[in-house]
Amino acid sequence: MQIFDTLSSMGHEQVVLCSDPITGLRAILAIHDTSLGPALGGTRMWKYESDEAAITDALRLSRGMTYKSAVSGVNLGGGKAVIIGDSRTDKSEPLFRAYGRMVDSLRGKYITAEDVGTSVRDMEWIRMETKFVTGVGGPGGSGDPSPVTAFGVYSGMRASAKTAWGSDSLSGKKVVVQGAGNVASYLVEHLVKDGAKVFVSDIYAEKAAALAARTGAEVISPDDVFGHDCDIFSPNALGAIINDDTIPALKCAIVCGGANNQLKDEKKHGEALKARSILYAPDYVVNSGGLMNVASEVEGYDRDKVMRQAEGVYDITMDVFALASKKDIPTFEASNALAEERLRKVRHVHGSYNGSPTIRGV
Ligand code: NAD
Repeated sequence: MQIFDTLSSMGHEQVVLCSDPITGLRAILAIHDTSLGPALGGTRMWKYESDEAAITDALRLSRGMTYKSAVSGVNLGGGKAVIIGDSRTDKSEPLFRAYGRMVDSLRGKYITAEDVGTSVRDMEWIRMETKFVTGVGGPGGSGDPSPVTAFGVYSGMRASAKTAWGSDSLSGKKVVVQGAGNVASYLVEHLVKDGAKVFVSDIYAEKAAALAARTGAEVISPDDVFGHDCDIFSPNALGAIINDDTIPALKCAIVCGGANNQLKDEKKHGEALKARSILYAPDYVVNSGGLMNVASEVEGYDRDKVMRQAEGVYDITMDVFALASKKDIPTFEASNALAEERLRKVRHVHGSYNGSPTIRGV
C-alpha cells in the first residue's frame, strides 16, 4: 500500500497507529475530515486478516462518517478507529484504557463510540482515560440509537414513496424487511402503524417470529427476501446485499433501509438500480438518525430535538432525489454531491477571521 498516495486520494487528514505490547493494543485511528467539527465515529474490534486490511477498513469507514455527517446537517467530522483483535477473547480493561489514552492524546479531535465488536462496557473503560467518548450508559448518555435510526429510515421511506408514487403514505404498500434486529423492530412498528403490509425475515427464525407476533407482520424465509413481490425492499441486516446476484431478482420499486454499505460496489450497483428504475434511498442518508443521536450527546443530550432531526431525514432524502432527477444521476452520486457541497461551503465560511486568534500559545 502506498499509504500517503492513498491518504491523499481519499482525503484523510491524519491516521494514528497505536501500539501497546503490554496490553496487546494494536489500533488504527483514522481522521478523515474535521471541516465541520471533531471527527466522530465508532471503534470497531475485528480479527483482521492483515494490518493492511485493518488500515483499509479504518480509512473507508472514517470517510463514510464524513459524508454521513455532512449530508445530514450534523456539525461533526468523520473518523473511525479499529482495534485488531478478537472481540470474544481479546478484550480487557487495560487494553481499552490504553486505547482511551491514545484517544485522549488527540485532545478532542476524535470522539469515539461503539461499533461492531465493542460495547457500552468497553466505552466505560475508555471513559476512565478520556472524556472524548460517547455511547456510555447512565445519565446524559444517548442510550440505544436504534429507535432514532428507525424513525429516520421510516421518514426517508415516506420521502421515497412520495417520489415514486406521489403520496408519502405507506398504507397498503408491501414492504419486505431483511433482518429482525434492533433497527428493524422499531421500523416495523412504524410501518404497521402506517397501514403497510410487512414481511420480515431473519437468519434466526425465532427473532423474525417474535417480531411478527408482536406487530402482525408475516414471516418469510431469508432466502426469499430479494425475489419476493413487494413495493419496498428494506435492508436492515448486513451490507453488500445489493449486488450482481440480487439486483436482477428484485421485484420492488424502492430500496430503503437502515443497513450500512448496502451497495456492494457503490458506482456499479447504484447505476444498476437506476437502470432498473428502482429508487434507491442512499443508506447513509436514511440511517443517519443513529449519528444524530450520538452527536446530541456531544452537545448535551436532547431527545426531542434528536427526534425532530430524524424526522428531517424526509427533507434531506427529498433533496437527494431532486438533485438526482435534475442531473439524471444515480441517487448515491447525488447524496455524495450534496455532502461535498456542504463541506466545501462550510470550509469557505470557516476560512474568514472571526476574532479568535489561533496564534500558537494564545
Ligand atoms: P442487529 O444486530 O440488532 O440486527 C441485525 C439482524 O440481522 C440480526 O437479527 C441478524 O440475525 C440479522 N441478519 C443477519 N444476516 C441476515 C440475513 N442474511 N438475512 C436476514 N437477517 C439477517 O443490528 P441493528 O442495530 O439492527 O443494525 C442493523 C443494520 O443497520 C446494520 O447494518 C447496522 O450497521 C446498521 N445501522 C444501525 C444503526 C443503529 O442505530 N443500530 C445505525 C446506523 C446503521
